[in-house]
Amino acid sequence: MTNEAEKIEADEQGDNWRCMCGNRPWEQGFYSIDEGVQVVDPDEEHWRTNEYVCAQCGRVIEGTTHVVTRRVDLAATISRST
Ligand SMILES: [Zn+2]
Repeated sequence: MTNEAEKIEADEQGDNWRCMCGNRPWEQGFYSIDEGVQVVDPDEEHWRTNEYVCAQCGRVIEGTTHVVTRRVDLAATISRST
């Protein structure tokens, strides 16, 4: 048992994510999320966390390091209505 942070797999370009639940970008996908449980547009105004939520398991992933920072209840996430 190590203390190493949970990290998802990505290719050398940082793309083609593979969550430990098996989710891929072209399957359930990943959504930009704020510091709470709200799914937001990935723009400077709404999105300041650089975090994505896995749409399959609710793990929240830091966009640059790919470290899993927390986990949210997917049923509680709020999609911004457009
Ligand atoms: Zn996942």
